[in-house]
Amino acid sequence: MNPAAATHAAHRSTEHRDQALWAAVEAESARQEAQLELIASENHTSREVIAAMGTVLTNKYAEGYPGKRYYGGCEHVDVVEDIARDRAKQLFKAAHANVQAHSGTQANIAALMALVPPRARVLAMSLDHGGHLSHGHPKNFSGVFYEFHSYGVERGSERLDMDKVREQALALRPALIMAGASAYSRIIDFAAFGQIAREVGAKLLVDQAHIAGLVAGGEHPSPVPHADVVTMTTHKTLRGPRGGMIVCNDEAHAKALNSAVFPGGQGGPFMHVIAAKAVALREALDPSFAHYARAVVANAKVLAQTLAGRGLRIVSGGTDNHLMLVDVTPMKLTGKDAENLLHAVDLTCNKNLIPYDQNPPTKASGVRLGTAAITTRGLREEHMRTLGGWIADVLANPTDASVAARVRGEVGELARAFPIYV
Ligand SMILES: *Cc1c(COP(=O)(O)O)cnc(C)c1O
Repeated sequence: MNPAAATHAAHRSTEHRDQALWAAVEAESARQEAQLELIASENHTSREVIAAMGTVLTNKYAEGYPGKRYYGGCEHVDVVEDIARDRAKQLFKAAHANVQAHSGTQANIAALMALVPPRARVLAMSLDHGGHLSHGHPKNFSGVFYEFHSYGVERGSERLDMDKVREQALALRPALIMAGASAYSRIIDFAAFGQIAREVGAKLLVDQAHIAGLVAGGEHPSPVPHADVVTMTTHKTLRGPRGGMIVCNDEAHAKALNSAVFPGGQGGPFMHVIAAKAVALREALDPSFAHYARAVVANAKVLAQTLAGRGLRIVSGGTDNHLMLVDVTPMKLTGKDAENLLHAVDLTCNKNLIPYDQNPPTKASGVRLGTAAITTRGLREEHMRTLGGWIADVLANPTDASVAARVRGEVGELARAFPIYV
C-alpha cells in the first residue's frame, strides 16, 4: 500500500482505540463527500498532502531555520523545509520564502512586525467591503497594535477605484499599505498599489490568501514584482494544508520576516505541515495546476452568469476569480436565510456582507460562493449551469419543501458521481 493510501486507510475508525474521535472524523469525511463545498476559502487537498501531515515529522522540534536550529537531530527536517522554500520561491518567482507561518493570520502578524513599528499607520481594505480580520479588525492583533485606516469599493461599481485609493493614501501618508481581500471578486491592480505606495513613501504588503492558487496558475497577475512582502494561506485556492506562507525579494525584508515569524510570533515550526506544503507546492508547479486554476475561474464565471440570469444580483456584476458575492435581497431573503436554505440541500456556503450592506453582519444581504473545491472534485462548466439552477430554485422557493427535497436528491447524485477521495 502506498503511504497516501495507508494514511487514508488509517482514518478507518476500527483501527483506532479512540472510537468517539474517529467516528467524528469519519462523519466529516462523509459530509465532505456528500455535500458540494461552495465556501470560497476551502478546498480538497490531495491524499499525498494529507499523508504528509500524518507523519512522524509532527514529533520534531525545529526552532530556527535550516542549518541554524536550536535543537539537534534536524538534518532531515532541514531537507524538508529547504524543499518547501525552494518550491515556494520557484512557484511565485521570489528570492526568499518563509514557510513556517502557522496560518494566514500568523503570516500577516509577522509581516506587520517586520515592516513597520507598533502603532504605525496602515491603510488596508475595509472589512465590510471584503477585507480580512487581520487587516485591522479592532479585536485582532493588527487593529490592537497598529493604527488602521481603510479604503473600500465604490458605491455604483462595487469595485476598487485606484484613483480614490491614491487620494486616501496621499491624505493619510500611511507607513504601510495592505492589499488583498477575502470577498472581492475582481482582479486587484497590484501594479497600481505599488505605484501609490512608492509615491507616498509607504511599504506595500499584499495578502494573496484567497488567490494564491490563481496567481500560481497564471489566472491572476502576481503581486510579487510590486510588493515589499506577499503573505498567503496555503489551504485556499493553492490547495495545500492549512497554513501560511510569506515570500519577498528584498534580503533585508527576508531577514526581518524570518525573525518576526520565529521568535517574533511563533515557537517551533509544524514540520509535518511544512512537508505537506512542499507536496502542495510540487503539485502547483505541475502544468496540470494551471489547467485547474483556469477551470476554477471559468466555472465561477458560468455560475455567476447562471445566477444572474435567474434574478440574483452578483456584486460588481460578475467575477474575475474563484468567488462571487451573491446579493440575495431580490429574493426577499437575508444572507443568513440563504445560507440555511442552501445548507439544507447539502450546498455549503457562508453568509457575507455585501458592500454598503443594510443588514447587520449576523444577517447580511449576501452569500459568498467559490468554485475552488467543486472544481477540484471535477465539476465543469455544464455542472455550473445545473448548480446555478438549483441554487436559484431553492432561493426562489424558500418555503417549498418539494423543491428542497428534489434539489437535495440531485445534489447528492452529482456529489456521488464526483467523489473526492474514493
Ligand atoms: C483567509 C484569509 C486570511 C487568514 O487565514 P487564516 O489561515 O484563517 O488565518 C488572511 N487574509 C485573507 C485576505 C484571507 O482571506
